[in-house]
Amino acid sequence: MIVVIRPGTPRDQIDFVIAEVQKLGYDPRPIFGTEQTVIAAIGDERTHHTLESLTVLPQVERVLPVQKRHKLVSRESHPGNSLVNVDGVVVGGDKFSIMAGPCSVEDEKQLLTTAEAVKEAGATILRGGAYKPRTSPYEFQGLGKEGLRLLAKAKEQTGLRIITELLSENHVEHVAEVSDILQIGARNSQNFQLLIAAAKTGKPVLLKRGLSERIDEWLLAGEYLLAHGNGNLMFCERGIRTFETYTRNTLDLAAVAVIKKESHLPVIVDPSQGCGRADLVRALCRGAVAMGADGLLIEVHPNPAEALSDGQQQVDFKGFADLMKELKPFLTAVGKTV
Ligand code: PEP
Ligand code: MN
Repeated sequence: MIVVIRPGTPRDQIDFVIAEVQKLGYDPRPIFGTEQTVIAAIGDERTHHTLESLTVLPQVERVLPVQKRHKLVSRESHPGNSLVNVDGVVVGGDKFSIMAGPCSVEDEKQLLTTAEAVKEAGATILRGGAYKPRTSPYEFQGLGKEGLRLLAKAKEQTGLRIITELLSENHVEHVAEVSDILQIGARNSQNFQLLIAAAKTGKPVLLKRGLSERIDEWLLAGEYLLAHGNGNLMFCERGIRTFETYTRNTLDLAAVAVIKKESHLPVIVDPSQGCGRADLVRALCRGAVAMGADGLLIEVHPNPAEALSDGQQQVDFKGFADLMKELKPFLTAVGKTV
């Protein structure tokens, strides 16, 4: 950390700050300039006390961090790309993973026909919410355990791996029993106790970006998983809140490039929550491939007009098959295969 002293501060007051820096466990190295003095505080910022509180002293102008706060998720700690093994299906590297299926599991026919259709078109992982985080308590909340039973049946029939949302710490055991990937939703992205509970299962975790979460906060949320011994993490960009209302959210494709640069972990893009409009999903999928994403999480429904949640953003079977065909040259261009 760098502690910047206000110009004109008398020497005894600078010495006071130097002593405080030392008390906090850092090695203070003052640099006396003609105009301004700065104190470089040497030490690991992640494990020592934070020096930021020194800004309460009138002689301290600013305290600037030098080190990044995230460590295990960062490329510095692991320069190569990490792969995540989802019950034998690899995510990351030169593989491009297609996770597709309905927003919510609604009934057996809906789920099983969708599973067959997405598998046929090239998906390897089936999505479907059994527990749904709905804005209104009067909206469809998901089938819960029955939804999990149907997901297990779909896996048995198709061999597709399963991703479903882990909404609460109370659900950890029964969700982890069925799901190959635990999805942490946007609304829970910084629910640290839930992240720790998910980490402890040892299962792959897909961490959605929070509705208004900054990239540094998202990386630190991911750090929770690795700090608690679970390296099977995938980040998922799903759009953020901005002033724009033309689309449901603003899909931040720049964040994909940032995470790929900052972190060794795979990045998945969810264009469905990302824009909230079925007619834009294909374009966003192409963009995600070009930005270097490692996969897509796409909502697919047999009849979106009748969906119990997010009907407006789900593509039908033909739309999904066309989209998959259309992606091929883009995947070839970036050297990835499904
Ligand atoms: C979903 O995937 O259906 C969902 C609710 O996602 P998010 O948490 O990104 O809103
Ligand atoms: Mn949805």
